[in-house]
Formats: sequence, C-alpha cells, structure tokens
Amino acid sequence: MVAHAFRHVPYYGETMRRLGIDPDGIRTVSDLARLPILERSQLQRDPDFFRSRARPLADLLELRSGGSSGAPLSVFHDPDALLQNTAHGEREVAVLRSLVGRRRFRMLCVASTHGTETDVRATVRAHAWIPGAAEGERTNVDIGDSPEFAARRLDATRADVVAGYGSYLDALAQVLEREPGLHRPRVVAYGGDALPEPARRRMVERLGLRVWSSYQAIESFKIGFECGHGTGLHLHADLAPLRIVDDAGAEVPVGTPGSVILSNLVNTGSVILNYRLGDVAALLPGTCPCGSTLPLLSFPLGRVEDWLALPGGRRLHSQRLRSILGPETLLWEFQVVQEAADHVRVLLVKAAEADAHVVAERVGPEIRDALGHDVRVDLVFVDAVERTAGGKVRTIVRRGDT
Ligand SMILES: [Zn+2]
Repeated sequence: MVAHAFRHVPYYGETMRRLGIDPDGIRTVSDLARLPILERSQLQRDPDFFRSRARPLADLLELRSGGSSGAPLSVFHDPDALLQNTAHGEREVAVLRSLVGRRRFRMLCVASTHGTETDVRATVRAHAWIPGAAEGERTNVDIGDSPEFAARRLDATRADVVAGYGSYLDALAQVLEREPGLHRPRVVAYGGDALPEPARRRMVERLGLRVWSSYQAIESFKIGFECGHGTGLHLHADLAPLRIVDDAGAEVPVGTPGSVILSNLVNTGSVILNYRLGDVAALLPGTCPCGSTLPLLSFPLGRVEDWLALPGGRRLHSQRLRSILGPETLLWEFQVVQEAADHVRVLLVKAAEADAHVVAERVGPEIRDALGHDVRVDLVFVDAVERTAGGKVRTIVRRGDT
C-alpha cells in the first residue's frame, strides 16, 4: 500500500519525496510511523489530494460523513476494499451467530435510509454474488423514527438482533422495559457511538439481552469487534492496523490510553495511512480466552451521541441531523445549538465558493421537517465553529434547561 501510495497518490508522492522517505524502507506496521501523522483536517480540506490515480474516479464510491466531529469528510472507497471488508465481516457475523444461538437470524437495523450503509450495500451487491442463504432477514428503520416506532417494528418482525447507534438502542430498551408485552431481541448490537456503562448493564440485567459492539469509521469501515468474552475489541489488524500515540506523536506502552492512529491497508480509493482518527483508546495486554490472536483494544472514549428533547415530549436522535448536514458537499463544518426545546440554531461554515442562499435552501427544509414545525430554526453562517481542547467540534450543544 505504501508503494502504491508513493506512485499513485499526490499527497504521498510529494510528502515522501520532500522528507526523503524511501517507500521500500517501509516493510512493517511499525515502519508506518516514519510517515507524518495525517490529520483529519488535511483529508477534509482536499480529498482529491489523497485519492489514488490508479483507478478512474467513476469506479470509486464516494462517501461523506459528518461523524461525531462536525466537519464533514469525503472518503473514496474502491470496490475491492469494500469486498474485503465484507469478507472480514464474517468474523463479526460468527460472533453474532453464537450469541443468538442460530446460524440464520432476523435483524432490525436502525440507520439513515440514505446513509453510508445503504450505499455500501448497493456497491457490494453490484460487485459480488451473494447467495440468498448467506443473508438472514433484515428490516430497516430510519434513525429519524421514534424509539416507540422501532419497538413496534421489532415486535412485528420478531427480530433476533437489533442494531444501531448505542444511544438510540438505549432509548429503545427503555420502551421495551415499559412495555413488557413487546417482543425482545436476543442481542443488541451497536457501533458508531458509545453506550454508557449503566445503560449497558440495564439491558443485560433487566431485559436479559446480550450486548455486542463493533468499532468502525468511514475512513476504513471495519476496525474492531467484541467476541462475547467482554475483554475489549478484537482488531481487524490485517485490514487497518492501529498505533496508539501520546500528544507528541510517540507510541505509548500497551495499557496506556492515547490517540488512535489508523492505517487502511486495503483501500486504493482515498489512501489513508498513519491517520489520527480522533478517538482515544488503549491497546490491551494479554490474550483473549476466546482463542483469537487478533490484538485487543479498550472501548474507545469520546463518541457520545445526544438526543434533542423537543416540544410535546418528542425526542429526535442527533444522528438524524448529521445525516442531513454531513453529506452536504457545500459545508465544511456545522454545529447544532439547542437554545430551548422549541429553538435550535444551526451554525454553518460553508465552502469558500458556495452561496449561503443555496446552502440554506438545500439543508433548511430538511432540518425543519426533522425537528418539526413547532421548533424555530435559525441557520447562521459563521467563519468557524468553536472547538474543544482536543480540537474536535461538538456537533450538538444543548443550552439551558433543554
Ligand atoms: Zn476474544
């Protein structure tokens, strides 16, 4: 991948020549530390600089995500890399099968209907033959729908596994607790954000659910997954190895938390090597009783999603707003500030060449629909959004008593 990057990706060709880094000298994962650490802002401001010229642009799938950082990002993926991720996904499916206790299971997924996952599935289907028997039954619920609605769908489909954002599934579990007559899944599977420990315990102890999580990011898709022994996350080290570094960029000892640095070794769309993902985690010592020799990572800190409390007791998951603002190519950054239950300000940093009116007309109506027409929405164009000490944008800020 380093040889490919040197030859076909403008950023690596220029940077490695400038710094005198010989691509043949990089042979192991720890050698990747010789490359400068790539920051998210670099990838965000000039995605084309990181795109491999080895394939025509039309062959690549471009995905955009606001993620939890509030600064949308474009990442190009090649179909071969998506297929490799799908194949490695069998490691995760095998764990789910053993937790459910059956080879075929029914799944209810809470996601953005127009989101990354839908695009990826369509691309994989276009490039692979997937035997019908390999896929269990699957039902989708949109992230903008209420947890009460998802609970009804769960009851109707009798799903064995319910998958989605941790904070959404926490709210769904609370509905199941209030209404004991509804169907309960065997397994709750989450990724993309953190599930607070008390919420996880409540699901296990009060509802008898198995809780399982995976770790993924738009920059590489599969990063790690739980095996069912509760020891941490097993890393897909052969797809995207991680290094953990301190503030000065030096690797920290096993067991010490630090900044997660990722290298995607399969994707020749956007080539992402030695990249600061923006999460904090620690590599864990020892081996897992499950027998897997994949390295172990602690659960990453620093990705907690919020719900917005709206008039009349309505709640909206913040990911619904990110799914509108994240894919908007004319935006560089955004922040949603909830001033009161019925008043939301959306701070927008637009691309230099974009017209504010055009941006407002593209995102305004969808945001108003999602929040409901009893909520006052102000779109405010600003030059920059305030960052945390760690350099991240908090995408959802709640003020006062909301
Ligand atoms: Zn294990």
